[in-house]
Amino acid sequence: MKSYTGTGSCLCGYISYTASGEPSFPHLCSCHMCQKWSGAPTVAWVEFSIQDVQWDGAGGEPTFYRSSAKTRRGFCPKCGGTLCALDDGYENVSMTIASLNDPNAIVPDQQHSYQESKPSWWTVKVKPAS
Ligand SMILES: [Zn+2]
Ligand SMILES: [Zn+2]
Repeated sequence: MKSYTGTGSCLCGYISYTASGEPSFPHLCSCHMCQKWSGAPTVAWVEFSIQDVQWDGAGGEPTFYRSSAKTRRGFCPKCGGTLCALDDGYENVSMTIASLNDPNAIVPDQQHSYQESKPSWWTVKVKPAS
C-alpha cells in the first residue's frame, strides 16, 4: 500500500494518535472477541509498524486489556473507545479503521475474518480482494 499519514482518536479525544508509514493488511473481523470488545458486529482493522504510531493525545497510550494469551486490546480509560490491538512480540499494531478521523482513507478489502460469526442481518459491502 501507499505511504499514509492519518490521525485518529477515541470518542472523547483523551487518547489520540498519528499513524504514518505503510499501512498493511486492512481487513474486517467478525469474531466474537471483536464483537464483545467493540459492541459492533464487525471491526475494521489496519496494521502499522508499532514505531509508526505516535500516541500524541493528553492521555498518552491507551489502557490495555489482555483479551487472550498473546493479545492485548487498547481502549480509552475515560470513554471506552476501542483503538488498537497488540500481539506480544509482533512488530505491528492493529488499529481500528473507524477510530481514524477519516475512516474512508483505508478500505478493509484484504480479508473478512470470521465471516461465519457475522450476524445474519448484517450486510458487509466491502469484498475481499481475490
Ligand atoms: Zn476517550
Ligand atoms: Zn476479531
